[in-house]
Amino acid sequence: MAGEIYFDNNATTRVLPEVADVMLPFFTEYYGNPSSIHRFGSQVGQRVAEARGQVAALIGAADPVEVIFTSCGTEGDNAAIRALLESRPAKRHIVTTQVEHPAVLGLCQHLEKKGYPVTWLGVDEDGALELDELRAALTDDTALVSIMWANNETGVIFPIEQIGAIVRSRGIPFHVDGVQAAGKVALKVKDLPVDLLTISGHKFHAPKGVGALYVRRGITFPPFMIGGHQERNRRAGTENVAAVIGMGKAAEIALSRLAEDSDRVKKLRDQLEALLLESCPDSRVNGQRQNRLPNTLNISFRYLEGESILVLLDQQGICASTGSACTAGSSEPSHVLRAMKVPADWLQGAVRFSLSRFNTEEEVYYVNQKVPPIVQRLQGLSALGKLGSQQHPQPERGAGTGTTAIRG
Ligand code: PLP
Repeated sequence: MAGEIYFDNNATTRVLPEVADVMLPFFTEYYGNPSSIHRFGSQVGQRVAEARGQVAALIGAADPVEVIFTSCGTEGDNAAIRALLESRPAKRHIVTTQVEHPAVLGLCQHLEKKGYPVTWLGVDEDGALELDELRAALTDDTALVSIMWANNETGVIFPIEQIGAIVRSRGIPFHVDGVQAAGKVALKVKDLPVDLLTISGHKFHAPKGVGALYVRRGITFPPFMIGGHQERNRRAGTENVAAVIGMGKAAEIALSRLAEDSDRVKKLRDQLEALLLESCPDSRVNGQRQNRLPNTLNISFRYLEGESILVLLDQQGICASTGSACTAGSSEPSHVLRAMKVPADWLQGAVRFSLSRFNTEEEVYYVNQKVPPIVQRLQGLSALGKLGSQQHPQPERGAGTGTTAIRG
């Protein structure tokens, strides 16, 4: 099989052709500013409003006005957490989890250094949250709770309704990072105890550089970006119009095919999982299998390094990702797998395969043909390495060949 076999859809997805098509005229023909008074601009404003409605429908918001367009998921997470702190200055305590994406994790670490007390909730060996720990963490000083809907590395889904009920019973605002959940599972924020929700276009076949933040009506939201009056004074800066319109279209398509796509993708993921577990004896799945995104498989190969596997997979045209963060040349084990107390001999050997509607059964079989010999070869080297010096295969191609150390 020639060409790129893409199993890294939690990092980013291909823009749908229908999405690219609706975007193009907004570069060349309809280039007006959506905030302008004249008809040339205001017709663009109407299309932005339509996209807002499409995104509101995807997340099940009661009113499109609750949707603010942003530049990405990271911006949404930052804007939400900072707004909640600013709107309740007398309260400083933050509750979040040890397994958040760096967009929340890094910000909360930064705030902790600035003197905001942070409670970092742990997870069990399956990646599930301990709800009693959450109950015990909430205090009269808690300003906000920020917890992800679904984990980007393992796909584990948290019980957002139950978490939200606990948080709301204490009158505390609840922000959810829904970046990996949007377009993969049904999100009905209107019916859930969720106050703010972050999503990002490029995870569901819209372009990169556009996201949205849901802010429930009645929640005080001081803007993170200050300037003009765009987005009803909640996010200054001219909207990325073409991308916003693309995100609207992608949201409409994702919603209309949600059940069908997630069933199909789940079948392929389960097939891949079963094949790999059978053909690679020293392998295990990380994270609970039931409450999991339909597209995500995080699998560890014992005694190996995920990055070595990725390099060799890349040489076969297969794009996947490790579950580990890689900082400036030194690879560190994934903070998510560490929080799950994955034993040391399995910790480094994690590979994440994340699928989309574009993957096929043929690709699943191809991956299952290529992975076992790679794993066998590396396990042989690893056994040799234990006897003598450590050996790891070197990439034959240069840096940036399509393997991703992260995660997305
Ligand atoms: N939150 C989660 C759970 C993610 O997976 C990601 C991206 O991978 C982000 C936030 C950040 O989104 P963006 O890349 O749009 O900034």
